[in-house]
Amino acid sequence: MNKAIPKSQLPYDVAKVRADFPILAREVHGKKLVYLDSAASAQKPKQVIDAITRAYSHEYANVHRGAYYLSETATAAYEAAREKVRKFINAASLKEVVFTKGATEAINLVAATWGRTFIKAGDEVVITAVEHHSNIVPWQLLRDATGCVLRIAPVALDGSIDISEFAKVIGPKTKLVAVAHVSNVLGTVLPVQEIAELAHAVGAKLLLDGCQGIVHEHVDVQDLDCDFYVFSGHKLYGPTGIGILWARLELLEAMPPYQGGGDMIDSVTFAKTTWAPPPAKFEAGTPPIVQAIGLGAAIDYLNTLDRAAVAAHESALLRYAMTSLAQVPGIRLIGTAPGKAAVQSFVMEGAHPHDLATVLDRSGVCVRAGHHCAQPLMEILGVTATTRASFALYNTMDEVDALIAALRKAQEVLL
Ligand code: PMP
Repeated sequence: MNKAIPKSQLPYDVAKVRADFPILAREVHGKKLVYLDSAASAQKPKQVIDAITRAYSHEYANVHRGAYYLSETATAAYEAAREKVRKFINAASLKEVVFTKGATEAINLVAATWGRTFIKAGDEVVITAVEHHSNIVPWQLLRDATGCVLRIAPVALDGSIDISEFAKVIGPKTKLVAVAHVSNVLGTVLPVQEIAELAHAVGAKLLLDGCQGIVHEHVDVQDLDCDFYVFSGHKLYGPTGIGILWARLELLEAMPPYQGGGDMIDSVTFAKTTWAPPPAKFEAGTPPIVQAIGLGAAIDYLNTLDRAAVAAHESALLRYAMTSLAQVPGIRLIGTAPGKAAVQSFVMEGAHPHDLATVLDRSGVCVRAGHHCAQPLMEILGVTATTRASFALYNTMDEVDALIAALRKAQEVLL
């Protein structure tokens, strides 16, 4: 079974946590900011903002190449961030942690390098119906380049993934299974350990898109038994422009480089170039140095919190939001799978999600409206768009009430 963070019995001081996030004190349109769009991008604690300022103010130089103090300091900070990530996801080796500019780049990297080397015409890549475009389009590009076949595991109408249905799309031709850990639209936590068993039983590799999973679940890549795990820093309270590709070392060693340039080589002549070992092989050019340091600071910040208490807080927010939303006439919840994460999509009868989000914004409530980069899922659900409220460690029950009050007000304006 997928391992959620166990429930904590400790009280959670959300006011203290909120005080760490300067932006939460601001107003929007003269109203208190109610930020319910953390699944798109999370706000940043001052510990992360300060680490970025400190890096640029005191420790900044290019990494790896300088033989002077400042460059050595910046290199040490950049590599220390890699170690923080390694420990956070329990990777076996630092060599398995590759910095990218985000999850999207990490998936494209795997498709373009591992995919083009090991996937041939007629091989099958399995994804699910709930995937984000960034875990669909790279595989379509691979299909166009190689002639492989893309197979789609279905989703039930409540948003859950039935493992026996999933098993039907896995077969002897499956070479890769690439699925979300947690759906960004439905909040469904996928049964990733059962999926790993199915994939490995036919000799396929498993890639997990952990963009939402790493925020809401305890991630131990060894325990999850996946082969690739990717995520973006900006959803984990870190900066934009930084993401992680974790892969088993033997896979990274077998993969050709993604981009060529400085830092990824062992030696270069005009006749022949040899590659540096992983992770440098996949980090061509000046890397996102301060972004990596910022991600390290975000992980440090999360480590100061009781993550079990955070998880319990988020699931209490979700339960309260689901109950409250269901009581608003004309609202239909989209995504009600058991054990889901704190992301709730819904539609309101007679109101387009974009209009709804615009009206909610006048009350200071930030929610996302649209297809959430999951157009195929929208089609399956029979909607063109949804409105989505997503909850983070800094949200409160009062903010759920503010959402409900704003929705009732919006009904008066729109209906
Ligand atoms: N996968 C999922 C499940 C996501 O939620 C997102 C971001 N919405 C992505 C992939 C893409 O992440 P990024 O844009 O940071 O690369």
